[in-house]
Amino acid sequence: MTEFNPELIRKNVPLKDLVTFKLGGPAEFFYEAHNSDNLQAAVAYARRERMPLFILGGGSNLVVSDAGLDGLVVHNRSRDINLVDLDKHQITISSGFALAFVVTLAQQNGLTGIEPFTGIPGSLGGAIYGNAGAYGRCIADVLIDARVLFPDGSVQTVPNSFFKFDYRSSLLKTEPHIVLSARFQLEAGNCEEIRLKMDDIILQRHSKHPSCEVGCAGSFFKNLPPLPGEDRRRAAGSVLEQVGAKSMFYGGASVFQKHANFIINTGNATAADVKHLANMLKQKVMNDFGIELSEEVLYVGR
Ligand SMILES: Cc1cc2nc3c(=O)[nH]c(=O)nc-3n(C[C@H](O)[C@H](O)[C@H](O)COP(=O)(O)OP(=O)(O)OC[C@H]3O[C@@H](n4cnc5c(N)ncnc54)[C@H](O)[C@@H]3O)c2cc1C
Repeated sequence: MTEFNPELIRKNVPLKDLVTFKLGGPAEFFYEAHNSDNLQAAVAYARRERMPLFILGGGSNLVVSDAGLDGLVVHNRSRDINLVDLDKHQITISSGFALAFVVTLAQQNGLTGIEPFTGIPGSLGGAIYGNAGAYGRCIADVLIDARVLFPDGSVQTVPNSFFKFDYRSSLLKTEPHIVLSARFQLEAGNCEEIRLKMDDIILQRHSKHPSCEVGCAGSFFKNLPPLPGEDRRRAAGSVLEQVGAKSMFYGGASVFQKHANFIINTGNATAADVKHLANMLKQKVMNDFGIELSEEVLYVGR
């Protein structure tokens, strides 16, 4: 591991521009890790100094509190590993790469299996943390194994089963392990066909999601468990639509007109506005249907 230089830690760094919701307060201390060694060294430093630690990926699933985050925020931009094994149809890649980059890399190499992730923002590490997915496919379906940094500073390669993946969930939500890199199993495909599928998904997403200039963190609430006898989850968006969510707002936070499960920042929203609106929506769904919604986005900070 390289020597860590604490002088590269910056103080009181605004996080607003590093999260897709475009709101929230600063990081007390902030460090950008450009490779796996930097990442491990920064984590070791925070643990040695007993500082609270937060790993920031693409910031696309977060509501950062207005008061910001205590301790050290490590922005994971590690991109040192990027291997494509065309014989085995596998990709091994650092956790700081954007998921979008991995999807494109697979397409360019004629590897199919992850094109359903087209358009999901954020880093690979964040995608593993939340078992991101779309169009019937999730990270758990394609991950073989990953290199993980454990709280005691050791690094181990762990298999898919280690993560106890579930719907938008993994072991990482309860255990502070950090993903350094991951290996994916894909299949041989046709570059052009994969690209056409990706184009189709982009069109579908554009028709129902806000553009990237609009602050949001994707679907705000998790979809609901399937009804008895059905195997598909019920869209939280359709329940929200039925309670009139699309006309609801609070301060600078508003429900997106094309998708009732998206809360957007209309320009000057605070994290408190977003949380208040989310609670109004939860209350309405509980009152009207007796259903308890739970957040897919993560509230972080003081
Ligand atoms: C417009 C839009 C559309 C979206 N569509 C989808 C969708 O279709 N499907 C879907 O699943 N999600 C979707 N999302 C949500 C979001 O993009 C995903 O949850 C994404 O995987 C989060 O990754 P991130 O790097 O941004 O994580 P962040 O938001 O930065 O962090 C999320 C959590 O992951 C942890 N984390 C990050 N990196 C690591 C690491 N290396 N090791 C351990 N923990 C780590 C963080 O500490 C944090 O707790 C959407 C979001 C937006 C804004």
